[in-house]
Amino acid sequence: MTVGSVSARRSTFLPFSTPTIGEEEIREVVDTLRSRWITTGPKAKRFESEFATYLQAPGALALSSCTAALHTALKTLGIGPGDEVITTPMTFTATVNVIEHVGARPVLADVEPDTLNIDAGEVEAAITPRTRAILPVHYAGHPVDLDALRALARVYRLAIIEDAAHALPARYKGQLIGGGGNPVAFSFYAIKNLTTAEGGMLTADPEFLAQARVVSLHGMSRDAWKRYDQGGGWFYEVVLPGFKYNMTDIQAALGLCQLRKLEQFQRRRREIVSQYNRAFLDEPALELPVTRPEVEHAWHLYALRLRLEALTISRDRFIEELAERNIGTSVHFIPIHLHPYYRDRYGFTPASFPVACSNYQRLLSLPLNPALTDQDVSDVIEGVLDVLRNHRV
Ligand SMILES: *Cc1c(COP(=O)(O)O)cnc(C)c1O
Repeated sequence: MTVGSVSARRSTFLPFSTPTIGEEEIREVVDTLRSRWITTGPKAKRFESEFATYLQAPGALALSSCTAALHTALKTLGIGPGDEVITTPMTFTATVNVIEHVGARPVLADVEPDTLNIDAGEVEAAITPRTRAILPVHYAGHPVDLDALRALARVYRLAIIEDAAHALPARYKGQLIGGGGNPVAFSFYAIKNLTTAEGGMLTADPEFLAQARVVSLHGMSRDAWKRYDQGGGWFYEVVLPGFKYNMTDIQAALGLCQLRKLEQFQRRRREIVSQYNRAFLDEPALELPVTRPEVEHAWHLYALRLRLEALTISRDRFIEELAERNIGTSVHFIPIHLHPYYRDRYGFTPASFPVACSNYQRLLSLPLNPALTDQDVSDVIEGVLDVLRNHRV
């Protein structure tokens, strides 16, 4: 270990991310536990309606995860065996797994070199008569080129299901992601921009959501959560073999508090991003994240790219050097085509998606969340600059 050359080390380890939970959340959860409803009930309803209002979305369905929301959306669209869904290799595996879950074939399209979002040109090249939908991911919180994807969807009559796990809140040409009528899936996992520990939301137009609600709860034909309340009847009918994807009121209690804090959380994220950008701007070995003029970035991730030709160490070693300085980082993402299941099933090689693959080798995500103190942020900056001082060519 090159510990001798470490001149900037925090006294305690800074984790890559931690949730920001306050007394309000704790009080609201306790209030739920003391009430008659602990699973899906009035708070889940209120969270849906406040979330939809916040995004100016036509409707919202609270679910157990973003994975559940994506799965529900695909199933509700009737996508299944024989169908193809085009998505990105630069994502978490859930995005692609759900396509397999409905029995369809995931078709990957490489990403743009600047945003690392799915490239509309590559999407068009991947369209076949079996293509039913495009499943883009707003990588790191930077919206995809929606106009280009919408044009393809119109011409080839495809659905667009957005994975907005990183994109709360983000805007494309002034409109909030999730504000349109197509299905958009959000994640409230522990370290997402808003958390309910585990949870997700599907926004879409009300007719789609009415069907999605049935799909997401056992295929029961009526609002099943009401059946134990006064005035609720015992009778229901199963119209399809649905899932068990409902959000509990304990989760919704967290979500209601977090939604009220979201603007303040985002202000803090933007401040931290400005500090990182200022500190790293003149570093030839670093490539900073881009923001196109037509978008507002949700800054879920600060994904830094190393210019490996300007360094004497690899990205993996860079991460170890930061860990030796007590700075936790992560990598988003190991491209889908490199994972054994997808590699072997579809015969991919690393070169199948060269932009995703070459960027993966030089990517790392720095800590970015509202719980970071000014000291934490300056420790991250000092840690990165110290590694660079020791390992520039
Ligand atoms: C976190 C994440 C998901 C999965 O979210 P869950 O709520 O954990 O199911 C899906 N897609 C992307 C891009 C993610 O980062």
